[in-house]
Amino acid sequence: MPSKTNDPKRKTWLDIPKNTDFPIQNIPFGVFLTRDDIITIGTRIGDFAIDLGALHQLGYFEGIPLTDDIFLQDTLNDFIADGRKTWRLVRNRISTIFEEGNANLRDNQEHRDRVIFHLDEIEMQLPVQIGDYTDFYSSKEHATNVGKIFRDKDSALMPNWMHMPVAYHGRSSSIIPSGIPVHRPQGQKLPNGATKPILGPSRLVDFELEMAFITTDANELGQPIPVDEAADYIFGLVLFNDWSARDIQKWEYAPLGPFLGKNFASAMSCWIVTLDALEPFKTESPKPEKELLPYLQSSGKRNYDIKLEVSIQPEGKAETLVTRSNFKHMYWNMNQQLAHHTINGCPVNSGDMMGSGTISGPTPDSYGSMMELSWKGSKPVKLDEGGDRKFIEDNDTVIMRGYSEKNGVRIGFGDVSTKLLPIFKKK
Ligand code: MN
Repeated sequence: MPSKTNDPKRKTWLDIPKNTDFPIQNIPFGVFLTRDDIITIGTRIGDFAIDLGALHQLGYFEGIPLTDDIFLQDTLNDFIADGRKTWRLVRNRISTIFEEGNANLRDNQEHRDRVIFHLDEIEMQLPVQIGDYTDFYSSKEHATNVGKIFRDKDSALMPNWMHMPVAYHGRSSSIIPSGIPVHRPQGQKLPNGATKPILGPSRLVDFELEMAFITTDANELGQPIPVDEAADYIFGLVLFNDWSARDIQKWEYAPLGPFLGKNFASAMSCWIVTLDALEPFKTESPKPEKELLPYLQSSGKRNYDIKLEVSIQPEGKAETLVTRSNFKHMYWNMNQQLAHHTINGCPVNSGDMMGSGTISGPTPDSYGSMMELSWKGSKPVKLDEGGDRKFIEDNDTVIMRGYSEKNGVRIGFGDVSTKLLPIFKKK
């Protein structure tokens, strides 16, 4: 049904850049501080941030069942909990308000001054209060590469991997929005050849190119979500850099999995792009190589064609593009992930976040982490302005971008950008 909001011919009366990630067909959701220091829920068209709290107060959402303060919140959780029908009504209305030819807001300067901000007047915030964060491991290429690096070629994939979307429970307290810098973590690690561990700065700090989806309230304790209904409970997607310290990870991960090598920081892009906006970019998933249990069988287009890229920018220098990948490479799709997550009756709430796992493509220039790109440091990656990288160095900024494009419409995510600061020192 995702209606007229996706119509490639629809244009806005706002003046927006040609190649923007945020045309009128996108209408993502985010949270920002206005120039008057008021926190509000908003959307973005071109380089304008739209204050949905102000639009609602001025009566532009009349006829849609919304509480008075639904957009005057510092997180999207309550709005997300209103469900897919409400998200659609609100996006449709925003699309109409800003559609070329609609004079209601366009010709009301007083209202425009209250509703429309330029991006440099606002400050983006973390858009959701993330209750629980789960990280999947759903790219076959990535899981195979990691298996080859840490184990051996013949047992690269664990026997369970082909039968279920493997995951672990992450930590939400260290999830940060784009733009917040991170200190190099310290931790316990076992140097090569040593028999005793030491405590020290991680020397192998890495990015993980991921996407993550945000859920709404989906199920009660004990109640699984069927794979064919899962998409109804997915609000939208963001770019996700799941920072990792490979030396800490290597020493700690057996037998209970990732811990301090992972939970020092994960960064997300600030605008949540809805599944409805991504509808035109649906594509087939890779064919299952083993027969799946019925609760994981899903047919039709369940994946999305989203081009992804990562750049490294050393301080004071230009960016170097280090990899290009695509979300469509995911072996396990989001519907299967959510069905698997809840098959035991685990409840999923509004504002929960599910990471895809590192998204590596089939070729060495499409790998989603430095560990794979530099093959554990054995093949340094050249930088455009000289030097190279095996892993991320102090004061490097890692920038991830993503977008879909078809029929002249580009639906993008903006970016998620994080600077790695030197190790924390008490002043
Ligand atoms: Mn991860």
